[in-house]
Amino acid sequence: MIAFTAKSLYTPLEHIERPLLFVEGRKIVEIASRSSKAAPANTLLTDYGDAVLVPGFFDIHIHGGGGHDVMEPDASALLPIQNTLAKHGVTSYLPTTVTAPMEATLASLDRLATAIEKFEGGGTVGAQPLGIHLEGPFLSHVRRGVHPPSNLLSPTVKTFNQLWEASRGHIRIMTIAPELDGAPEVIAEATKRGVRVSMGHSDAKLAEARAGFTAGARHITHVFNAMRPLEHRDPGILGEALTNSQLTVEVIADGIHLDPVIVQLVFRTKGLDGVVLITDATAGTDMPEGRYQLGTFEFEVKDGRCLSNGKLAGSILTMDRAVRNAMQFAGLDLEQALRAATLNPAKVAGMDRGVLKAGALANFLVMNRSGEIQKTILRGAEI
Ligand SMILES: [Zn+2]
Repeated sequence: MIAFTAKSLYTPLEHIERPLLFVEGRKIVEIASRSSKAAPANTLLTDYGDAVLVPGFFDIHIHGGGGHDVMEPDASALLPIQNTLAKHGVTSYLPTTVTAPMEATLASLDRLATAIEKFEGGGTVGAQPLGIHLEGPFLSHVRRGVHPPSNLLSPTVKTFNQLWEASRGHIRIMTIAPELDGAPEVIAEATKRGVRVSMGHSDAKLAEARAGFTAGARHITHVFNAMRPLEHRDPGILGEALTNSQLTVEVIADGIHLDPVIVQLVFRTKGLDGVVLITDATAGTDMPEGRYQLGTFEFEVKDGRCLSNGKLAGSILTMDRAVRNAMQFAGLDLEQALRAATLNPAKVAGMDRGVLKAGALANFLVMNRSGEIQKTILRGAEI
C-alpha cells in the first residue's frame, strides 16, 4: 500500500485539509485526514507539499489529439490521443464521432466499442475510453457547423438502432437537433436505452427545445455554439438551456468559441453543478499548425483556431487550460471550477467516476491552486 499527502484534497464536493489518500494497486482504498489518522509505519508516504489532490478530469466531448482522430480506420490512433489526454489531466473520456457517411460511422462505432471493451480488460494506455458521444448524423442543416451536409440524416428509430447495434450499446451521449421530424421519438428511444440525450447543432425554437426535454433530453451540446442565438423575443433553445435547471450544458472555455463574459454568464445561470467543461479537441491538439483530419474531412490549425471553410472545426483546447480559463473567466477558485471537469461530466455520462473515494480507481492529479498540473496519477501509477 502507498499513501499520498498534500496540503488539501477536493473530492471535489468535500474539501479535506492535510489528506491521506491510500492506494493499493489501481485503486483508492481509503481517504482520511492526517489530523484523524497517522500513516501506518509500513506505508510508503509521498508528500506533495503545498499542492492539492483532485480527481482526474473526464472529457465527454473530444474528437482527437496528438495528430490523430478517434474515427481513424486504424484503432491504434487512440493511443496517441489517450496519451495526449492523460498529459493534460484527463483520465476518462468519451471518444466523440462527427457526422460522416453511414458506413464510416458504423465502422468507427464498432472500433470504438472494441477499444472500450479491450480497455476494460486492462489492455491499453493513457486516458480510458468509457463510452461514445455520437455527434451527428441527426443535426440541423441550418446549424451544422462543419458537419458535412450530405451526411446529415433525418432521425428515425431504425437508423438509431443501426448506430446503437454497431456501438454494442456503448453510446453514452447522443447530440440531436430536437426540432427535426422524428426527433422526439428517437430522443425517447435513446433515453430508454440509457443514453444521455443532448440537444445541439440545433435551430430549435423554445417550444421545440421544450418538446425535446419532455421526450427525455437532459443535456446541451456546446452551449451557444451551433445553435439558434438567444434573442429577447425569440429565446429559442438557449432560453430553455439557460433556465431549465434539469438541463446541464457543455462549455468550450478556450476564449475563442465563447467570449469570457458568456462563460461567466453560463456559470451564473447554471450554477456549479450545471456546467460541464469540454474541450471539443481535435487531432491538432498539442501539434504544430497545419492540416489535420476530423472524421472524414480536413481542417486547418492556424493561430490557435481550427477552421474548415471559414467555420470553427472544434478546438485545440486541453482540459487543464479549460479549468484555468473557467476560473479566470467566471471568477471561480479551483475547488469550484473543478466540478465542471470531474463530477459533472461523470454524472452526465452516467458513469461512477470523477470523485475521489474508497473503491474508486486511483486517477488523480496533483495541482497547484492556479490550476496547473504537477503530476498525474493514472490507475495508481505516476505518468
Ligand atoms: Zn464536437
